[in-house]
Amino acid sequence: MRKINKLTACLLAMVFMVGLLVPAYAGQLDDKRQELNQVEREIQKQRSKINQARKKEKDISKDLAILDRGMETTRGEINRLESQVKAVEGDIRLTEKDIQRAEKELAEQTEYLSERLVTVYEDGEISYLEVLFSSADIADFLTRYDLLREIVQQDIELIAAIEKERNQLDEIKQGLQVKKSRLISTQEAKKSQENYLGEQADQKNKALKAIKNDRQAYEKALRELEQTSKELERIIRSMQKPDSAYQGTGVFCWPAPSSRRITSDYGMRYHPILKKHKLHTGMDIGAGKGSKVVAADGGTVLKTGGMGGYGNTIIIDHGGGISTLYAHLSKISVSPGQKVERGGKIGEVGSTGWSTGPHLHFEVRESGNPVNPNKYIK
Ligand SMILES: [Zn+2]
Repeated sequence: MRKINKLTACLLAMVFMVGLLVPAYAGQLDDKRQELNQVEREIQKQRSKINQARKKEKDISKDLAILDRGMETTRGEINRLESQVKAVEGDIRLTEKDIQRAEKELAEQTEYLSERLVTVYEDGEISYLEVLFSSADIADFLTRYDLLREIVQQDIELIAAIEKERNQLDEIKQGLQVKKSRLISTQEAKKSQENYLGEQADQKNKALKAIKNDRQAYEKALRELEQTSKELERIIRSMQKPDSAYQGTGVFCWPAPSSRRITSDYGMRYHPILKKHKLHTGMDIGAGKGSKVVAADGGTVLKTGGMGGYGNTIIIDHGGGISTLYAHLSKISVSPGQKVERGGKIGEVGSTGWSTGPHLHFEVRESGNPVNPNKYIK
């Protein structure tokens, strides 16, 4: 598409340059007017492309802002998970220390016990005899024996308690490890989410860049076209004979025969669309869509086509520096260079351009400056 537009712009520029080289002659004015119309149509096309590109840029920028917020949230979640993982790792380290302590105690207690048991066992015979012989009586012997057994029993209980504690600590450690691996997998999911969002943002950024490049190309084409349009207008002006004879009767007929209703006269007024006071450069005649619009006086069609806020417009050159303009038309029935009669149909009433309803905006210009049409309409 862009290539074609560039080609069109180039062709137009070439046509325009060739036009400069060829000396002006009578029929060429019409050609120049046709060229100008073509350039103006191209200008409208480029303008709408620029607007579309701007809208797309806005949409993509909005999407990017949403993605950025999403990434920020995800990064925050990842950081929170990171600190949770660190906290769990700290708990695991403390639990491991407790386990080491419990195991050390266990080893010590087990050693004490085995030492005692070895003593009791190895020296059992002697001790037994010793205890037996050194005992004052059987009651003393039994007391000594019970005491020994009790000490061993306490050792065994202590070992069991330490072993229980160690097992509990092992369970806690396992629980913490499960918690840690859950946190890590959540963190990994969040990281892949962040990556996904990042990829989306990259794509959007690329699209935005492409659209911006397109828009800049359209804007460049538009500038070139506007330049061409200005040059064409200058050529047309220079081709028009400034002292051309007046072609009409000098007395204008009513340009919209179906209605005499003036909805807004020439002069300063509050513009309903621009919402400010502006010179109303013509006269608005309220008339039904499709009703006939006629040439106010005899002349030559100077220009036809879309003219921004004016919508579909016809300009008739009556000679002697006088021209008339008919705007917001729904239909244009004449073309540039065509001779028109006073009262002859040139188009139909419409509501194109900046218009709040079907009406004819009728202007009279003296050397290009708008004047009150009532001066000419009798
Ligand atoms: Zn108007």
